[in-house]
Amino acid sequence: MNSVQIAQIMDATYLVAIILFVLAIKWMNSPATARRGVLVAEIGAALAVAATLADPEVTQYKWIVIALIIGAGIGIPLGMVKMTAVPQRTAMALTFGSLSATMIGIAEYYVGYPHVTRFEMGEICLEVIIGSLTFTGSLIAAGKLQEILPLRPIIYKGQNFVSLSVLGAAIVLAIAMVVHPNQGILFPIMIAVSLFFGILLVTPIGGADMPTVISLLNSYAGIAAAMLGFVLNSKVLVVAGALDGSSGFILSVIMCKAMNRSFTNVMFGAFGQVQASAAVQGEPRTVRSASPEEAAEILGAANTVVIVPGYGMAVAQAQHKVRELFDVLTRRGVDVSFGIHPVAGRMPGHMNVLLAEADIPYDRLREMDDINSDLPQTDVALIIGANDVTNPGARTDTGSPIYGMPILDVDKARTVMVIKRSMSPGFAGIDNPLYYMDKTLMLFGDAKAFVGDLVRELSAGQGAQQPASSQRTVSA
Ligand code: NDP
Repeated sequence: MNSVQIAQIMDATYLVAIILFVLAIKWMNSPATARRGVLVAEIGAALAVAATLADPEVTQYKWIVIALIIGAGIGIPLGMVKMTAVPQRTAMALTFGSLSATMIGIAEYYVGYPHVTRFEMGEICLEVIIGSLTFTGSLIAAGKLQEILPLRPIIYKGQNFVSLSVLGAAIVLAIAMVVHPNQGILFPIMIAVSLFFGILLVTPIGGADMPTVISLLNSYAGIAAAMLGFVLNSKVLVVAGALDGSSGFILSVIMCKAMNRSFTNVMFGAFGQVQASAAVQGEPRTVRSASPEEAAEILGAANTVVIVPGYGMAVAQAQHKVRELFDVLTRRGVDVSFGIHPVAGRMPGHMNVLLAEADIPYDRLREMDDINSDLPQTDVALIIGANDVTNPGARTDTGSPIYGMPILDVDKARTVMVIKRSMSPGFAGIDNPLYYMDKTLMLFGDAKAFVGDLVRELSAGQGAQQPASSQRTVSA
């Protein structure tokens, strides 16, 4: 096979890979097709790698094999983390991706030196600046989410001015490099300044905003990869990077919308700062609690039940028990559906993934905007480990850090039941007035254990004859 034929086969393979990437993004849009989406993305990536390895310019494989072994050694354990640790795992993946883009940019500069053209220098500078700031930004984000670094935003006076000045300095250095590509001394300074900017970018952002920031960093990593594609003249990298960059950006916009926050508010609002001061304090207030028998009696007598899962269901890994509850209630003729808030849990789609894992029919999963109109006619809203996404204070309390965030209107259901272990707040660190409403019953316990008890009670057809809830006084 001559080199022209090899090049044609490579181009055709890249084209197939690109088509598979586009299809993957489309299929990942729905829980019903998401698995297929992941599979075709993997096939696309494998094809792109195979085509690159077949390039006649790749003359020896020794270093590639060594890198592959090291990469697999890091990647396999990273892929096996618990579902709740996926945000920090994603941040680490972005760290490695952006580091490789930066290092390839650096290598390209020194390999081409002193014959780098101004145009090439522009491409390299853009790639290295975006790659470097994404590298340190993702590293800080992963540290915060893993709670190795403080989750609270670190802020100081004049911070935005300092951050923008540092970014400005990186841009000025890049312009100087484009004008004089042979001024090699400026290149490492530009990289150091960009790395520093990444730290400044993420340290002022609170833990609650971290998944949005990760999605944004994902978008930056995609842009860095696309720039790398220009530097290496690789069409597949340009397209894959652009897809990654744009989908990450769209996801960030969707998350901001779901929390009723603007980008500037996320990036500069220091949201997590409010958490500490807003933590539960104050007058003792009374909540009503109920036992599994009492709760099962109410559920068994209902016509319609909306289950609202949240982060606590993920922590307890209660999704399979929830499936059993769904089955037993459905068998009894109860109409059960699931109300899914776009930011329930700790990452976009968290609840959909867990419920899909438990084989809950997709048509029973309903988006917040869709289910909210049905909640006033719903007999029971059963909240399993969700808190902030059900907080009615988001509608009315202008001083609340989540004020304006659209919520699931569970407080409008006829009866509200909340499974959680204590009166502790959720991620935003604030009290939830829902728990003190007359129609609310607190079901204290671990989500998996409590739902298991409900299933047992309903399966046995038992339950208290007169649901008599008990009062409990708590500090609020
Ligand atoms: P929350 O973090 O508000 O609340 C979770 C609740 O689960 C806690 O109140 C906790 O109470 C309870 N819980 C924890 N462990 C268990 C357990 N084993 N059994 C039963 N209950 C348990 O979760 P939500 O899903 O309601 O809200 C998500 C939050 O994360 C929002 O503030 C959202 O803005 C934020 N966020 C989410 C993003 C995403 O992409 N999903 C992105 C950015 C932010 P207790 O300790 O008493 O049991």
